[in-house]
Amino acid sequence: MPGVHGLHLCQRLHEIDPDLPVIVITGHSDMPSAIQSLRAGAEDYVVKPLNVDAVLVGIERAIARRIARRKQQDLLRTLNERLVLSSVREQEHAEAEQHQRTQLNALLEKLTEGVVIVDPSGRVLMINDAARDMLGCVEECPTVDALHSLEIQDLQGQPLSSKQHPIGRALGGEQFAGYEVMRVRPNGERRHVVSTGTQLKDSKGTVALAIVVLRDVTEQWRLEQQRDEYLALISHDLRDPLGALLMFLDTLSSMEKKEEVPRIPIALRGTLIERCVRNCKRMTAMLQELTEATSLESRGVSLQRKACDLRGLVARAVDSLDDARTGRITVEPAADASSYALFADASRLERVITNLLTNALKYSAEDTQVTVRFAHTGSEVMLDVIDRGIGIAPESVKRLFERYYRTTGGKARAEGLCLGLYIAGLIIAAHGGRIGVSSEVGRGSTFTLILPSQAAPA
Ligand code: ADP
Repeated sequence: MPGVHGLHLCQRLHEIDPDLPVIVITGHSDMPSAIQSLRAGAEDYVVKPLNVDAVLVGIERAIARRIARRKQQDLLRTLNERLVLSSVREQEHAEAEQHQRTQLNALLEKLTEGVVIVDPSGRVLMINDAARDMLGCVEECPTVDALHSLEIQDLQGQPLSSKQHPIGRALGGEQFAGYEVMRVRPNGERRHVVSTGTQLKDSKGTVALAIVVLRDVTEQWRLEQQRDEYLALISHDLRDPLGALLMFLDTLSSMEKKEEVPRIPIALRGTLIERCVRNCKRMTAMLQELTEATSLESRGVSLQRKACDLRGLVARAVDSLDDARTGRITVEPAADASSYALFADASRLERVITNLLTNALKYSAEDTQVTVRFAHTGSEVMLDVIDRGIGIAPESVKRLFERYYRTTGGKARAEGLCLGLYIAGLIIAAHGGRIGVSSEVGRGSTFTLILPSQAAPA
């Protein structure tokens, strides 16, 4: 090869194609030049004089090595491609998982049920807002220990150990449902919580995750208790007039039967019959109140509005009372003759006013007066019913418009089911108005009605 050294040619060829097998045939048989050639990228080194067989063997070896290298490269390429593909898939998978987790978290956050997921190491993997709220847990990422330290009691008020705690039970591998506990909040508020516990286990049956679902049934529980109390109250209230009615009828009937007594004196008979009628009316009124309250609650208040006047409604309510009671009522004349127009359900408002008047008379001494006073602003008309009676304690004032509520002082005199003010509140609210009371124990009460003053639509 004139003008180029064999080693340089070897290097050049190697640069052009690193895979191209090069066999150096040379006259130099010394070791350093053989090493140099191999370093320059030669595949083999054959020393002259040329032995064709040796060259052929060298070529075959070179071809075989090249094939093996190609295969190796192909294999590496495939492996590489697979690696890239699987990492892309992994990323897609991770993204999908993240998406699912976000969706699941969003869903769990929206649930009204509380959900707590914990692992046996004491980590809380997930706790939604509802659970945090139910348990009164202020920490953003609480631990199981922190959750156990929250005061939880059984229904008898006994504090629960961490093993009896719903999360403790679920971590202990128990499956349970309808487990009722009481969470006592730092402010003393008691929440009635029903819990369900389950877990995910690994192949060896060991708890990997414990899941607890909590439902706050405080309101439902309160309503159930209230319903039982109401039922007891209603049957108790009905028992009195019914018992009296039976007694009077019994007396009438046994007196009628006695041969030796000529007849029941007319006056006595009249009194007994009059008492029977009074008790029947009382029971009818109670049942009417009950039906009205139930129907207002379930169907809402539907008003039969018509043009009317507040003073007219008061006059009719006063007229509906007997003379003795009417005599105790003073209706102060309204300051302005033309400003008490309402577009309202007259008969319902009249009953509300009658209820306020009868209460004022009932809860004050017979020798005291009940005053009715009117007032108005441009947009509202007001009515005050003022008595000088037993008054109402401040803690009762807050609860006065609740269903069946009666004050301690009112219990002795209450004749109805104590639904009058509750019904009044619903009716006045349906008119867009307000009802309120200011009172002082021993000095009397003022009930105030405020209604939007409204002309009838043209
Ligand atoms: P009731 O049929 O018992 O009068 P209400 O709903 O009208 O029922 O009244 C509820 C309770 O509010 C009464 O039982 C009584 O305790 C109390 N109350 C209402 N009006 C007065 C008043 N003017 N003075 C004192 N207490 C009153």
